[in-house]
Amino acid sequence: MKMTLKYKLILLYTILVVALISIITFTSSAVFMKIFNSYVENKQEKEMERVVKQVTELYEKEEDVNYDDLYKIGVNALDSGLILMVNNDHDNRVICMSDILKNESEKMLNQMEATLKVAYPHLEGSYQEDHHAIKNDGEEEGYVTLGYYGPVYYTEFDVLFLKAVKGSILKIGIVFLLISSLFIYYFADKLSKPISKVSKVALDIGQGKYNERITLQSSTTEINSLIQSINLLAENLKAEKILKKQMAQNYTHEIRTPITCVLTTIEGMQDGVFEITNERLSSLYSEMLHISKLVQGVDKLIETNNYKSTVNKIEFDLYSVTKTCIDNFSALFENKNIKLAFEYDSESDLNINADVEGIKSVLTNLLSNALKYSDDGDKVEVVLLKNNNEAIIKVKDSGIGIEKEEQNLIFEQLYRVEKSRVKDIDGFGIGLSICKNIVDAHNGEISVKSELGKGSEFIIKIPV
Ligand code: ADP
Repeated sequence: MKMTLKYKLILLYTILVVALISIITFTSSAVFMKIFNSYVENKQEKEMERVVKQVTELYEKEEDVNYDDLYKIGVNALDSGLILMVNNDHDNRVICMSDILKNESEKMLNQMEATLKVAYPHLEGSYQEDHHAIKNDGEEEGYVTLGYYGPVYYTEFDVLFLKAVKGSILKIGIVFLLISSLFIYYFADKLSKPISKVSKVALDIGQGKYNERITLQSSTTEINSLIQSINLLAENLKAEKILKKQMAQNYTHEIRTPITCVLTTIEGMQDGVFEITNERLSSLYSEMLHISKLVQGVDKLIETNNYKSTVNKIEFDLYSVTKTCIDNFSALFENKNIKLAFEYDSESDLNINADVEGIKSVLTNLLSNALKYSDDGDKVEVVLLKNNNEAIIKVKDSGIGIEKEEQNLIFEQLYRVEKSRVKDIDGFGIGLSICKNIVDAHNGEISVKSELGKGSEFIIKIPV
């Protein structure tokens, strides 16, 4: 059965509290009954001892026992729920209150039966008798028989007292139940409210309202961290949406300009407006080359997006591969008068298990960027390191650097820093995304440290 968290909590707490209060009420009432019973039994014993003592004292006082005094003791005993019978040493009956006060005795026994039924509805009681010897100077003068309704007899007062206590226990139980119900409602509401709010906002975010945020503060740590996670998720989704839009704009911009240029030139040539010259043809060619490079780049990007499943790991020497890449670039660096240095730890074993083509691609992209974004007189340095778990490749340049806010974005697909300094430098914002895809496929890490105007350092960590 589907239920809101609030009502589920209320139901659960209520079951728990009702069970707890019932157990407490039941056990306290059982404990009380036990104590009260032993008190009643004690009282009953004392009463019997008192009657026997009174009769014994009568026998001690005079040889011929005074019948009137005995009768008085019998009447008093009847008031306490006891029927007095006395027999002398010849076993002749001296007095029997149930004969003398037959009606009163019967009434008393009926009342005792009724009170016992109230105290213990399921207990089968019966008329019982106890015999006690009357001793005078060590000699037995007869015996006292006390009749009562047993096993224990309760006076009317006892029953009233019992009822009052049981009623009070029940009332306390009900009051506790009411108070705890209020607490239950309050806490269930307090706990479920932020969760409902969070799920409502999460749904809004899921429906594309990325500007929605949860401003609520909860005293529950888990709810607070859930709120933070959802707000962060919304923030990231919003950033991704903006980025995707920007990427699409970049892509169309990159393609639109050369296509327009090619179309207008060809139309002009067809209409005879433009003369077909070698110069125009080579300009058309270079525009088409630009489009072709972009398409190739996007193809490569799409390919590396699924790189993880096709990655082909083999063991190879990272030093040799890096050295070959550096050698391939050395002439280009020299042409631009940029110093290219290579540093590696000759002591450590630079054999790694990775995809050679992938690592070559990463190095090529990073070197090509270092070349593009550095200028005459700058310096580029490639460093290879290896620790226990990973191989580290660093490509450091003293070029134009990247602004702090841009540093996270440059790894996004088709993202280019749209600043005037970079505007005229050829590129599509694909190289670093390819690097990231390859490094991710190796469960590695790619990061950048950079300062505007001072240079950038790209660090790659590949688990070995
Ligand atoms: P692009 O083809 O534009 O170079 P990349 O994905 O390789 O595409 O790089 C993304 C952006 O990161 C570039 O537009 C550039 O602004 C910045 N960038 C990359 N490498 C460097 C670097 N070494 N120095 C300064 N900026 C860099």
